[in-house]
Amino acid sequence: MVRNKLDVLIPEDRIQARVRELGAEIRATLGDVPITCICVLKGSFIFMADLVRAIGGDVRCEFLGVSSYHGGTKSTGVVRITQDLRSPIEGRHCLVVEDIIDTGLTLHYLYRMLQMRSPATLHTCTLLDKPVHREVEFKCDFVGFQIPDEFVVGYGLDLGEYYRNLPYIAVYHP
Ligand code: 5GP
Repeated sequence: MVRNKLDVLIPEDRIQARVRELGAEIRATLGDVPITCICVLKGSFIFMADLVRAIGGDVRCEFLGVSSYHGGTKSTGVVRITQDLRSPIEGRHCLVVEDIIDTGLTLHYLYRMLQMRSPATLHTCTLLDKPVHREVEFKCDFVGFQIPDEFVVGYGLDLGEYYRNLPYIAVYHP
C-alpha cells in the first residue's frame, strides 16, 4: 500500500471532537425520542459507529447498502440499492448517516425513497460536505466539515476498497 500519496486533511482528534458535537446537536434537536440511525454503506460505517455513541439515549441502527461510484474517483450519478433496510421505518424518527455529499444525487435520491416509507421525521447527517460539484440542491441538517474539491479517503471512505481503516481523513493524490 502506497501511503505517500496521502495528505492529512482532518486529523483524528478533530474528527472525534466534531462527532461528539454532532451527537449532542442531534440529540438536542430531535429531543428524547428513540432515533433510528440509517447507515449508508459502506463509507459511513465508521462515522456511524462513533456517532451513535455520541448521540446517546435510545438509538436503533439500520444499514442501507448503496453503490454510486463503482471503484473510481468520479461520480456516475447512478444510485443502486445493494441492500435494503431490514425493518420498516414507518412512524419512526429517522436519521440518515452519510459519509460525504458531493453531487448530492445519492442523498437526494435516498431522502425521497425513505420519505415515501412514512417515517415520523427524517433528518440527514453527513460527516463531509464537498459543495463544488453539487448537481441537485440538498439541505443536509447536520454537517461535520465542509471540504475543498479533493478526493478524500479514510475514516470509512475508500479508494478501490482500501484506506477505510485510516483514523483520519486524507486527500488522495493520484
Ligand atoms: P454524491 O452522490 O453526493 O455525488 O456522492 C456521494 C457518494 O460518493 C458518497 O457516499 C461516497 O461514497 C462517494 N464520494 C464522493 N466524494 C468522495 C470522495 O472524495 N472520496 C470518496 N472515497 N468517496 C466519495
